[in-house]
Amino acid sequence: MKANAVVQSVYEQVLKRNPGEAEFHQAVKEVLECLEPVLEKHPEYVKAKIVDRLVEPERQIIFRIPWQDDKGEFQVNRGFRIQFNSALGPYKGGIRLHPSVYIGIIKFLGFEQILKNSLTGLMMGGGKGGSDFDPKGKSDGEVMRFCQSFMTELCKHIGPDTDVPAGDIGVGGREVGFMFGQYKRIRNEFTGILTGKGLEWGGSLVRTEATGYGLVYIMAEALKDMGKSFKGMTVTVSGSGNVAIYAVEKVQQLGGKVVAMSDSNGYIYDADGINLDTVKKLKEVERKRIKEYLSYHKKAKYTEGCAGIWNVKCDISLPCATQNELDEAGAKALAKNGCIAVGEGANMPCTPEAADVFLHNKVLFLPGKAANAGGVAVSGLEMAQNSQRIPWTFEKADAELKIIMTTIYKNASEAAKEYGQPGNFIVGANIAGFVKVAKAMLAQGLV
Ligand code: NDP
Repeated sequence: MKANAVVQSVYEQVLKRNPGEAEFHQAVKEVLECLEPVLEKHPEYVKAKIVDRLVEPERQIIFRIPWQDDKGEFQVNRGFRIQFNSALGPYKGGIRLHPSVYIGIIKFLGFEQILKNSLTGLMMGGGKGGSDFDPKGKSDGEVMRFCQSFMTELCKHIGPDTDVPAGDIGVGGREVGFMFGQYKRIRNEFTGILTGKGLEWGGSLVRTEATGYGLVYIMAEALKDMGKSFKGMTVTVSGSGNVAIYAVEKVQQLGGKVVAMSDSNGYIYDADGINLDTVKKLKEVERKRIKEYLSYHKKAKYTEGCAGIWNVKCDISLPCATQNELDEAGAKALAKNGCIAVGEGANMPCTPEAADVFLHNKVLFLPGKAANAGGVAVSGLEMAQNSQRIPWTFEKADAELKIIMTTIYKNASEAAKEYGQPGNFIVGANIAGFVKVAKAMLAQGLV
């Protein structure tokens, strides 16, 4: 069968087997479109049905999460863990807690995770999990009871050499702590079954900062290739969670000026440059809305509606909130205002139409698979430290992160060139990530 026919038939099978899962379809389509030339060059991948196997998760776990709220009322949520592909190592990928979570979102994230983890060069397969539980507005006690119930079921399916979850939207240090405690209590084992742990009990320095810092490191590498740097650049960053906050921190350290940040309600604009201490206090300590920034910085402006942030004039934009937050109109506004580079801190924040706008307007575009791989990379380093039972210094972990991000940039760039599309990092990242997984799957036989 010809490569384009294979791609078409695999995509049709995905649509048929996974009805109504729009985000998963979108993620698969983007990857398949990039793989045609690889399949042409490697008929052995076609014969071994590598792509057909890649899009079908090895295991899908769906479970009930009963818990009790502060009023004593019983609540029931749904939990997911998709163990997508273990060709390169134990399944690895975060847990997302957000009311929008359903199987299609977890599958899209798990699928992306396979190639992202491959790009890091570490031994990690791909997986993802989550629940439609909404942590917003819940007390610490409610979050703890939910996390304990979630782990009571999940602990049957994970382990340090099997599947190692981490944080994602709605899951930070607090939730990882509650989940880890419950695992340890049920299994009577103190092992590295989660990453993003507290520093006193197995966590790695730089894990908190890793995704945001990594995003800025890879962007700095790309800018260097263009003879530029962050120094003096005006930057906008969507979101104000873990990824956004540490992306802003690193941009500021490298001499850039971040003028806008957002949350799901709206965005702030501060012409003097965002004061990150205020944002950290509001978001990391008090769990308040970004709008409150105005109480501390009177000259800043707040606009209701998060999509308006793309109209803010900038040189570089880093979408760091959630999937499909940047559409064609947003991309056109960025390009029109002279934006030269966009790096995805979030997973799939740009719609396919937005990515096309960047490619056509020669706006450098770094897709999430490559650009936000720093988080899982340092998770991989956390696993290494847990196995050694020796914690690394901040400097050592940060230096490793920088090397990994630079290597990802180089590999994606070379793959794009090799397949005749220099500068197209969507193609480059997908191909560089895929080839390693394909080789491993081929070597491991029909499993
Ligand atoms: P957080 O929960 O810490 O922060 C998420 C941020 O995005 C918040 O500011 C939130 O605002 C905003 N947001 C969430 N949903 C929406 C929405 N529907 N519309 C607009 N804004 C929204 O999550 P993270 O920072 O950890 O994750 C952000 C993105 O980065 C996700 O796509 C995640 O998958 C990806 N990522 C995260 C990694 C990590 O290490 N944490 C690693 C790699 C990727 P509000 O508070 O109003 O909801």
